[in-house]
Amino acid sequence: MRQLFFLHKLLRLKRHVYLDHNATTYVSRRVRQTMQRVLSTSYGNPSSLYNIGRKSAEIIETSRQYVADAIGANASEVFFTGCATESNNAVLQSLARQFYPRKKKIISTPVEHSSVLNTLEFLKKQGITIQYCPVDRYGRVLPDELKKLIDDDTFLFCCMLANNEIGTIQDIETISMIAKQNSVLVLSDCVQALGKIPVNVHAMGVDYASFSAHKLHGPKGVGAIYVKEGSPFTPLIHGGHQENGMRAGTESIHNIAGFGEACKGVAKLLAHSEQIARKKQYLIDHLKKIEPQCRIISPDTGSLPNTLSCRFPGMENAALTAALDHNGIAVSTGSACTTHDYKPSRTLVAIGLSEKATRETIRISLDKTTSYKDIRYTLHVIQRFLKNSDSTIKIVPPTRIDEKFLYSNQTCVVDVRPQFLRKKTKGFPNSHVVSFFSIQHYLHQFPKDRDILLFCQHGNLSYAAAWYLKSKGFHKISSLQGGIIGWKIRHHELYKKLLENNMPRVTNETRGNI
Ligand code: PLP
Repeated sequence: MRQLFFLHKLLRLKRHVYLDHNATTYVSRRVRQTMQRVLSTSYGNPSSLYNIGRKSAEIIETSRQYVADAIGANASEVFFTGCATESNNAVLQSLARQFYPRKKKIISTPVEHSSVLNTLEFLKKQGITIQYCPVDRYGRVLPDELKKLIDDDTFLFCCMLANNEIGTIQDIETISMIAKQNSVLVLSDCVQALGKIPVNVHAMGVDYASFSAHKLHGPKGVGAIYVKEGSPFTPLIHGGHQENGMRAGTESIHNIAGFGEACKGVAKLLAHSEQIARKKQYLIDHLKKIEPQCRIISPDTGSLPNTLSCRFPGMENAALTAALDHNGIAVSTGSACTTHDYKPSRTLVAIGLSEKATRETIRISLDKTTSYKDIRYTLHVIQRFLKNSDSTIKIVPPTRIDEKFLYSNQTCVVDVRPQFLRKKTKGFPNSHVVSFFSIQHYLHQFPKDRDILLFCQHGNLSYAAAWYLKSKGFHKISSLQGGIIGWKIRHHELYKKLLENNMPRVTNETRGNI
């Protein structure tokens, strides 16, 4: 293994190992071919009555049947959406509109995906009561706690089938039964489950379920909702009569065809589960060997075969993921949908990890294409990093950043926030703007001989960016503690004063000199 590693280095070959299949998956060849065919030949509008339109409509109906077969539903219970985020929004918002103010309460879990949690926060502002059912140390719903929370005001219980970060599988049948006994509807986010474990929405006893094509080798930009025959639902998007009046807008035929094709392959994906689980176990065994302190967060049983959440006490996950990235290995620190502000994972906090522990945890998610060679290479890079990881990143407290500092030429100050956060809160005058998400294109502009201070909204993204730059050979890096928000709290007057002439030197990732 070691020889292979040095050979790769010598030849400057970069090995690419993708271990983030819960974030998204590559589009399979069969799906690509189907989509290509549809894109080339089926351009008719499915709502048109002539032949080419009818052909497009037929493609949609065939795909609907494939999705229904994969999830154990009737085709008439499946509706296509733009993504699973939309599916979750559509159900939650539809039911809130339908029941409020007759009934006001939704119960959910604290380990849901942000497409559920943030929608619930939105509904809370509209007057809906939101309660979260306590979970055990693996994120499993405690049925007795759920029973205690359900009352006459409750109209919905929302619980994912499999967790995207730690892989925990919920006992949905039991949970649904409790809800049903109390005339409460159930929504289950099945996004991470489909293609990894068997899914049968009828057997689960849920009223609604959400799915996304890109998690099972389908395209991005298409999802589905299962709405049980007879369950209430009003559309989120109004307009034409598409999707039987459940979701307006001309259908994305090639994406839907791709989703159908991906669902056709679900049985084949499931056939790989055991083999993937064995690879995960191999990874766990060797991680414990190379780092006895390593703590496995995912449950031993009752978890997705491909998902491993593990913690390296004392090791910043931002540092480790940056080092892995530098060696061509993609793993994540948690859900892809929460990376923009790099906040501590809500799931990990909910299962009892301290904020520090959440920052020492990474998620590795395998797939049938992950080889033992990939795993051994990853283990080798982790081992090397744990042995050699030197210093830490310098964290600068907000009190150290005053007006003199900001206008001096000693330090290069860089705003690494994505644009939407820069719009929300103005940054320092004289700062350069290089979003972390495009930082790789601007490395040549960062000075190696000057101090570089990175800042973001709350101090987390800049910290991750600092580790990334360090992995690229920049050593005079520091990160502003608490970000611009933390600084603003401590320097309120100065922030107001500077805001008036806030003109970043380099805006919108232009190619000015840093
Ligand atoms: N629910 C879960 C559990 C997920 O993991 C994801 C994606 O990461 C989503 C919902 C959102 O899916 P989409 O990307 O289709 O909006």
